This record gives sequence, structure tokens and C-alpha cells, in this order.
Amino acid sequence: MKSAIYPGSFDPITYGHIDIITRSAKIFDNLTVAVLNNRAKHSLFSVDERVNMIKDAVKDIHNISVVSYEGLLVNYAREVGANVIIRGLRAVTDFEYELQMSQTNAKLSDGDIETIFLNTDLRYAYLSSSTVREVASFGGDISKFVTKEVAELVYNKYKK
Ligand code: ADP
Repeated sequence: MKSAIYPGSFDPITYGHIDIITRSAKIFDNLTVAVLNNRAKHSLFSVDERVNMIKDAVKDIHNISVVSYEGLLVNYAREVGANVIIRGLRAVTDFEYELQMSQTNAKLSDGDIETIFLNTDLRYAYLSSSTVREVASFGGDISKFVTKEVAELVYNKYKK
């Protein structure tokens, strides 16, 4: 069984994330989508809200589990039996940070855990959760960035 883990903030999940999840689920037997519970970072949605949004967005794909985790990713990956970390790459600007993280994780896991990068689909190359939050905060249209259900939840946050 080949198992991979796709970690991230997913604040909120976008079509860019969904594309990476869909493609990864075709490559691996099991995919764990892992929402980082980062207490130091202020997020728009709670971890539980993010987990539920992802579950709903990918409910038609059956070899996926959606969880939250705290602490070191390599430890969590070992716990769920994943020896591959999936990350998405959009532009050169992602590369430096991602390269450093992947090398750190390789060291921390004594080379047991590989990071595999999937290139963004060109349709989503510009898309990030922070863009979605910013556009929504000004009442802009986010329907091309996130699912209908997610868009509603995002707008609700900014209504308050
Ligand atoms: P993080 O805070 O860990 O970067 P994100 O939720 O922003 O969490 O992203 C999780 C992963 O998804 C990262 O590897 C990121 O590069 C990737 N990603 C985000 N948006 C896109 C996109 N539009 N296309 C491809 N990959 C993406």
C-alpha cells in the first residue's frame, strides 16, 4: 500500500488544493489530507471548520481521510503510515521555502520520508487561500476560486 500525506493550512480549501488532492488520490492507495493546527498563526477558520470543509469538498473521492495534526509533520506522517509528503508548487516563489522544508523533513526522518511536488494546474496557478480571503473581505466574487459551500462560509465570516 502506498500512502501519502498532503499537509497544509487550507484556510480555506480552494480549487487549487482540490486539484492537487484529486491528482494525488489517483497516484496513491491512500491519501491523508492533514490540516495543521498552528496555534501561533491566526486563521479565519478553526481547524474543525477546515477539516469539515475539506471532507465536504472531496466527499466523492473514497481513498482519502481528512484529519488535523499538531507538531512535527514527519512524526505525524509516521503515525499514519505515510512515507510520502505531497506539496503543490505554483511559482518560483514557492520553490525556495518548499525545497528547504523538504530537505529538513528528509533529514528529520533519516531519509524515510520523501516529498513529492505536483505542479499546479495552469488554471489555478495564481490561486491561494490568502487571495480568497482578501477578495471576500472586500465583497468580491470568489465563486471561481472555491466551491459554493465554501464561498458561503467565507462570506459569513466577513459578515460578522
Ligand atoms: P501552507 O500554509 O502549508 O502553505 P496552504 O494551505 O497554503 O498551506 O497550501 C498547502 C499546499 O497546497 C502547499 O504545498 C501549497 O503550495 C499548495 N497549494 C496551494 N494553492 C495551490 C494551487 N493553487 N495550486 C497548487 N498547489 C497549491
